Amino acid sequence: MAVATSGRYAVLPRGVSERTFSRALREFASIVGERHVSVSPAELVPYAHDVIMVPPIWPSAVVRPGSVDEVQRVVRVAHRLRIPLWPTSTGKNIAYGRMMAVEPGNVVLDLARMNRILEVNEHLAYAVVEPGVTYAQLYKYLRDHNLPLWLDPPATAPGAGPLGNTVERGVGYTPYGEHFLFSCGMEVVLADGRLLRTGSGALPGSRTWHIFKWGFGPYLDGLFTASNYGIVTKLGIWLMPEPPAYRPILMTLSQEDDIAAVMDFLRPLKVSHILPSAVVVAHALLALAAEAEYPWHLTGGTRPVPEDWIREEARKRMLGMWNVAGCVYGTPAIVRELTDIVLQKARSELPHATLLDVDEARESPYWDHKVRNMTGVPSMVEYSRLSWRGGGNAFVAPVVPLFGEEARKHMEIARPIFWKHGFDYIGEFIAATRDQHHVMMLLHKQPDEMERAMRCYRELTDAFCDQGYLPYRTNVAFMDHTMSRLDPVFREVCMQIKRALDPRGILAPGKNGIRLGQAARPPRQRAAAPRRRRGGSR
Ligand code: ADP
Repeated sequence: MAVATSGRYAVLPRGVSERTFSRALREFASIVGERHVSVSPAELVPYAHDVIMVPPIWPSAVVRPGSVDEVQRVVRVAHRLRIPLWPTSTGKNIAYGRMMAVEPGNVVLDLARMNRILEVNEHLAYAVVEPGVTYAQLYKYLRDHNLPLWLDPPATAPGAGPLGNTVERGVGYTPYGEHFLFSCGMEVVLADGRLLRTGSGALPGSRTWHIFKWGFGPYLDGLFTASNYGIVTKLGIWLMPEPPAYRPILMTLSQEDDIAAVMDFLRPLKVSHILPSAVVVAHALLALAAEAEYPWHLTGGTRPVPEDWIREEARKRMLGMWNVAGCVYGTPAIVRELTDIVLQKARSELPHATLLDVDEARESPYWDHKVRNMTGVPSMVEYSRLSWRGGGNAFVAPVVPLFGEEARKHMEIARPIFWKHGFDYIGEFIAATRDQHHVMMLLHKQPDEMERAMRCYRELTDAFCDQGYLPYRTNVAFMDHTMSRLDPVFREVCMQIKRALDPRGILAPGKNGIRLGQAARPPRQRAAAPRRRRGGSR
């Protein structure tokens, strides 16, 4: 441990004296062991950086507990001494902040050592995991034990984990892709160190904690996602029984304008669950960013990549202007039937679509990655996009109704803003059941383009919020701003819950724009933008 009991710390938690901080560190060390507490700048580097467009945010220390009991004891010390804690599990929340806190000086509570798979129930198809369990680890466990169960990896990484991803309401690509929906039963350490079991787990000796979500009384689990009300130390996740057959449906579309037709084509297939995977419709540049060199010579870093270049590079890689990946699952007969339905509909509604041969397509890294994602296999490709323009990325992720016109309108809002700031539009529409997540990567060069990227991100966030499209998730630099766009009653209720559960405000101050003492800034006054409505019943 590098705890200095006198002298200076590089960073102190806000409002905490050096003396109190030293005392907290001594107490933390007596709980978790000296080697699991550090204030050494060299050890704090990974906790201070992400790839987003902001300078590092330095924590004051890192503490690495190894058990729930240790988490509770650390939290009690932090509560008594008013030390802010920033929990992180597998710490791969790349481009949303990674392990960075919103404010400098937090003590990072790194839960990666708590990495036990506590239970896998083969017959009821669920697992119970600790925070440090990674997708790669769970995947290996299922394979090693020959269990016919699939997990649902997010695109980001085998090193990310189901608990951290679920509490951030992350998504994947199998029919179990809405991760929070397929989670069941949490254990949560509260800000005063008490242990809460949610749902059916509230009954001592419960036999249904991880199979019946609702329990008795209010459903509390949602409170501990996208918030800072507690530290989740166990989570039940439902696993998909391996289907006897599946068939990826991979298509390319040659025209940029095809986006409206393809999203309209997908809507009934998604709403009726004929296509139960998330269906990704990715722009060519998204795939190229992982595979091609950024053409600095053509753009100087200030102009969009020319369309001719995109077409040519896409052609070499079995890519179209838009690239559609979905999957059907079931018995061989069901899969044949569902495939026929989808392909017949595609033939009549998407004249510019080309259906790809799956085996051939899997020779391309992009398509192989997509098929893996839709069949429960963690895969790494997404990271390689970061080096395309120089290491920086921030995701912009508004949620949009599943209509073609809405997708087209989103392109019309987003593209000029990216271009105005000298960046490219690199996006995908991910069709969930009734919505599409419009996920865009703001790839930029670090640190040269940091400030420009920050302005671009802000303008995009505001442009979408002005039109009624809320991001489902944002990075730590924009949590306050995004919260400030929400209705005051919603914000006040979030604050009231914070005051009730964490009256000293020690858990992840500022996470999702929630902190004590200082409400998120009020929304800027804007003329209400007229909302487009279609279909009357929405
Ligand atoms: P992943 O590696 O799967 O992306 P992370 O460990 O990076 O997940 O967690 C993502 C975010 O979720 C963190 O930045 C943190 O804000 C929050 N978080 C992570 N673990 C916990 C936890 N155990 N309890 C509460 N919030 C958490």
